[in-house]
Order: sequence, then structure tokens, then C-alpha cells
Amino acid sequence: MDMQLKDKIALITGGSIGIGLAVARGLAKEGVHPVLCARNKKRVEEAARQIAEEFKVQAVGLAADVSRAEDIDRLLEQVGQRFDGIDILINNAGAGSNETILEAADEKWQYYWDLHVMAAVRLSRGVQPLMLKKGGGVILNNASICAKQPLYYEPIYNTTKAALMMFSKCLANEFIKSNIRVNCINPGLVLTPDWISTAKKLTQETEMTWEGYLDQIAKSSTPVGRFASPEELADFVVFLCSPRSSYCIGSTYYVDGGWLNSVA
Ligand code: NDP
Repeated sequence: MDMQLKDKIALITGGSIGIGLAVARGLAKEGVHPVLCARNKKRVEEAARQIAEEFKVQAVGLAADVSRAEDIDRLLEQVGQRFDGIDILINNAGAGSNETILEAADEKWQYYWDLHVMAAVRLSRGVQPLMLKKGGGVILNNASICAKQPLYYEPIYNTTKAALMMFSKCLANEFIKSNIRVNCINPGLVLTPDWISTAKKLTQETEMTWEGYLDQIAKSSTPVGRFASPEELADFVVFLCSPRSSYCIGSTYYVDGGWLNSVA
């Protein structure tokens, strides 16, 4: 199927590793020129360099902390100088948390609010004029199954991701008038390097292998009994970015191996 994405410009936050990197690679494979951003400059530049070399596209890696308004302004300025408009924005940068509500300080709530919600608000507002130059565009927010089905140890993550999901719906209603389609995805377990290093740490001096530890999590959580690969998720993201999904607007899609324990 031709995804009709050749020569589109995509901005992907958190594009240097994990899901964001797989999405950037998936889009580049379709001829998209991806702009990746992340805090670690060296890593994001290297990821972009490899994508440019492998897929023969103009990939750019820019350092930015999307939890900070000033970094977002600078990022959008750099993108605007380099490209005449943007077609796709993937709000993907994010991180798990670990706390109790009684013990977590206000500053921690604020950081995750800025990272998961305000980054998407500010970037969506900022890319709108750049998308208008292209006659429209696509915005995809990467929340989590935890937006709907909370994990007990990360109330801040659950709450801010739920807010991102609702923001997606509100944004979709407003932005479709500018021919910008907005959707949200809620992944379940996706096997990123971070999961692997955590599993290695937790099983270091135990009888269990890191693979066995992850297998146990997958089997006890998901009907399918395994993690998704980042590429499996990226394939779905590429479809949602493509004009092939032109009637998909304002929805949240679960890509979770059946983990969601209710009807959406
Ligand atoms: P990773 O930890 O593998 O990658 C996170 C990416 O985001 C990195 O590129 C990181 O680079 C960047 N990043 C983190 N904080 C910031 C920041 N403040 N500003 C800019 N970039 C930032 O995460 P995953 O690939 O696992 O997750 C990606 C998204 O998917 C997240 O939003 C996560 O909540 C969501 N998700 C993941 C699931 C999973 O099982 N993996 C399941 C459900 C949802 P750097 O550190 O250099 O900034």
C-alpha cells in the first residue's frame, strides 16, 4: 500500500531511542524527512545521522527539553528556518514515574504535567501555522494504556497521560477546521531498551533471567502474553500519519495486546 507520505516533514519528540526512534525510522522508510528532538544532543544527532544514511532522507536531530516552554520556542524556530512547513507532529517524549500521592511533591506533578501535557499543548499551538503552510497536517499524541487503566505505582504518570488523552480529543475538534487531524495512541507493553535495562538491573543478583522477568510481566498482564516491538507500534503510527487514515479523527487507539480490561 502506498502510504502517500513521500517528502513529508515530521517532528518527533523523544525520537532518539525506543518508540520515537522506531516511529522516525518507520516514517523515513516511507520517504518522510524526520526531525527528531530529545535532551541528549549527541544521541539525537547520531540517531538522525543514521536515519539519513540508511533511508536517504533529510533527517535532523535537535536538542530540546520539551518540558520547557523556551526550548519548544527555540525548537520550532529551528524547524521553521530549515523547512517550509511541517506535515506531521508526534508528541511522544515521556517517562514513567514512581511515587505515592501522599509523598510526591508539587514540583514532581508540575514536571510531568509540563512533559506530558504542556509540551503537546505548546507544540500543537506552535506547529499550527507551519501546518497551514502545507494545507493541513497530522498530530499524534502518544499517551499510554495507563491513561485509562492505571498502574498502582505511578499515579502522576496515569493522571498526566489521561489529561493528554482528553487534550487530544479537544484539539481534534478544534484543529480539524484547519485540516489538521489529531489522534491519540495508548500503547501497552512495548519492549524498549529502557525496559531491558530495568529488567537487567532488577534480576542482577537473582535466580531469574531478565528475559524471564519480562516474560512474566507480559504473561501476567496481556492476553497475548508478550511485549510489542517498537516497530509493531510504529507501523500503526505510520498508518495514522498517512492520508490512508483520512477519516480517523479525534480517537484514541489502544495498541496493547488486549491488556485493556474493559471496552474502550
Ligand atoms: P524511552 O525512555 O525509550 O525514550 C524516551 C525518549 O524521550 C528519548 O528519546 C528521550 O531522550 C526523550 N525524552 C525524555 N524526556 C524528554 C524531555 N523532557 N524532552 C525531550 N525529550 C525527552 O521511552 P519509550 O520509547 O518507552 O516511550 C516513549 C513514549 O511512549 C513515552 O511517552 C511513554 O510514556 C510512552 N509509552 C511507552 C510504553 C512502553 O512500554 N515503552 C507504553 C506506553 C506508553 P532524552 O533522554 O535524551 O531526552
